[in-house]
Amino acid sequence: AAKDLGKNRFMVFENRMHEQLLTRLDQENRLREAVHRGELRLHLQPVYAVQEGQVAGAEALVRWQDPLRGLQQPGSFIPLAEETGMIIEIDRWILLEACRTLRHWQVENPWTAPAWVSVNLSAAHLDLPDLTDHVAYALATTGLSPRCLVLELTETVMMRDVAVTSARLQELRELGVRIAIDDFGTGYSSLGYLRDIPVDVLKLDRSFITGLVGNGRQQELVSAIVQLGHTLGLRVVAEGVEDAEELNLLTAMGCKFVQGYHLGRPEPAHQLYERLTTPALNG
Ligand code: C2E
Ligand code: MG
Ligand code: MG
Ligand code: MG
Repeated sequence: AAKDLGKNRFMVFENRMHEQLLTRLDQENRLREAVHRGELRLHLQPVYAVQEGQVAGAEALVRWQDPLRGLQQPGSFIPLAEETGMIIEIDRWILLEACRTLRHWQVENPWTAPAWVSVNLSAAHLDLPDLTDHVAYALATTGLSPRCLVLELTETVMMRDVAVTSARLQELRELGVRIAIDDFGTGYSSLGYLRDIPVDVLKLDRSFITGLVGNGRQQELVSAIVQLGHTLGLRVVAEGVEDAEELNLLTAMGCKFVQGYHLGRPEPAHQLYERLTTPALNG
């Protein structure tokens, strides 16, 4: 009986693996189609300038309007997209859409348009020799000024191969676009790359902001990072600001840019546009 039970368990296990494999293949195929079927959506999250109390920029964040499961957050499909290389196409779509949207906004409503839009790039892009050409193409076809585009790469991605990375990023900066280190502080503890890799913006990871209130040691750490960034001539953006107390602490530390649910959640690009260009809804 014990043996039968074991065999049954094995079959259950095997069936489940089979199911998971099918689900994965199915999801992979459907994600591949999603790009062509126009199921990707551009969401924007505002970045506020603390002193002015105004929107300074916006981060482009991808969503997948899956006809089967509804609106999907990046966590549920970016890992698969990265494994399969589909991320290149997805990021390129977002880049183009983000440039087009901001350019349109600037033309229609220059007074309310954010000064920049930032776009996330996965690691795979740094291995492609035509990255700079592609970014130049996105700017040329949409008419967006390079000064209005920020490319975000995570710290871990930057440190993969410092020589290759700095060469690629230098090419991009020569176009006039800015480079941001995303999720700063979550990679390795080596700060040496700040000396070698050309960047313009430092995005302090949300994990440093969570629990900031009431933790003096963490406040000292964050304050020191903000100063380090400013000393190096970087723009510092604090991510994941969820309440007024966190905002007050960051303001006192001299942090000039903040992003987080307290200031605005990611929302469909047209919705943010309407919210900021309709005075009655402003606030
Ligand atoms: P990220 O680039 O660090 O983006 C910030 C993430 O933090 C976003 O999650 C945003 O919704 C979330 N967030 C912002 N403020 C708060 C807050 O106050 N509290 C909390 N709890 N979360 C906050 P999202 O949109 O789910 O994106 C997650 C990650 O997926 C991004 O992290 C980025 O690494 C990746 N991602 C998103 N869009 C793209 C894309 O177009 N291309 C690539 N390659 N990656 C993307
Ligand atoms: Mg980002
Ligand atoms: Mg981030
Ligand atoms: Mg993050």
